[in-house]
Amino acid sequence: MPSIQKTPPATRTNAPSGRLYNFSAGPATLPVEVLEEVRDELPLLNEEVGASVMEISHRSAGYDEIEESARALIKELLGLPEDWYVLFLQGGASMQFHQVPLNFLPGGASADYLITGRWGKKAIREGEIVGRETGGSVREAARGETEDGFTYIPGPEEMDLDEGAAYVHFTSNNTVAGTQYHFTPEAPAPLVCDASSDFMSQPLKHPERYGLIYAGAQKNVGPAGVTVVLVHPDFLEQRRRPLPTMLDYGTHARKRFNTPPVFAVYVVDKVMKWLKDLGGVRAIEKRNEKKARTLYDRIDATDFYRGAVEPEARSKMNATFRLPSEELEKRFLEEAEAEGLVSLAGHRTVGGVRASMYNALPQEAVDALVNFMDEFERTA
Ligand SMILES: *Cc1c(COP(=O)(O)O)cnc(C)c1O
Repeated sequence: MPSIQKTPPATRTNAPSGRLYNFSAGPATLPVEVLEEVRDELPLLNEEVGASVMEISHRSAGYDEIEESARALIKELLGLPEDWYVLFLQGGASMQFHQVPLNFLPGGASADYLITGRWGKKAIREGEIVGRETGGSVREAARGETEDGFTYIPGPEEMDLDEGAAYVHFTSNNTVAGTQYHFTPEAPAPLVCDASSDFMSQPLKHPERYGLIYAGAQKNVGPAGVTVVLVHPDFLEQRRRPLPTMLDYGTHARKRFNTPPVFAVYVVDKVMKWLKDLGGVRAIEKRNEKKARTLYDRIDATDFYRGAVEPEARSKMNATFRLPSEELEKRFLEEAEAEGLVSLAGHRTVGGVRASMYNALPQEAVDALVNFMDEFERTA
């Protein structure tokens, strides 16, 4: 396998290749080195395999190696203890909204949910649906909402946690609102985290507090089609049984039960190698902090741009902001696009501007956005 190039992505993007500065919230920009390597390996993974990765058995040695490498790298990069399971599932993070309570909300049990945005609301709704079947229940233990929307992250003092909860579900980064937890909640029960939009963007603090962490790959670690699920073995043992085979985490922890999303896992493995090569989660955290600082400093520099959420809750992944009027916002988005700065529109439910700055987005893209913001304000 050719080695990952050492060239930082900043020097490659928006090059003559025609690639734009892509601020999409997901599926999102991938490291161009990874894309090039995938391209090079497409007709032929290697001489020994004699085919592309999409054409080989998911039980072959060729694929075994890829999945084991991806699994080992995720654990190594996050510093997760050896006994954690790393599963590559399908159905997106949205399937996890249902699968989590299906496995961990037995009759008579209750689970706490910290609601800080659209995805958390969807997660608790699935918990309600499952609870109706199992006799379990869900509780909203905190809600980071004001009349302006999901603008903040409730602190520990605002959390009404149940001592006997089966688990506490939270969304570490709120992709739509643009808020992020900058602390790890402390709870009497294992944490279950939807980390879809900040997975592998920084070190995982306090892994011992978690029972399960899940992330759709298409934000930070790969293409759509695979959801990475990390489960602690003790938590896994607490699941209800019997469960539908494919929806039982135990099925996938035990063995490779059916055909996994082979191509998506293959790309995830390459993105993990790229991440390791540039110094791992601490190095990417530094880069992400610099990008976020660059953009938020510009937003705060004048009154023209207004951050959409409380400054202490600002996300390093998705920066949301407003302009003085919706008309100016519309013009901003159109003119940005003409400059090659694309997918900056806020989520359709909230409007405004959203710049998603996942791991693979280079500093150069944020610098270009800030220059554009200066120019737009000057001429508005
Ligand atoms: C994108 C996203 C989801 C939904 O992911 P799907 O893979 O489309 O189901 C869920 N939670 C968060 C935090 C997200 O950013």
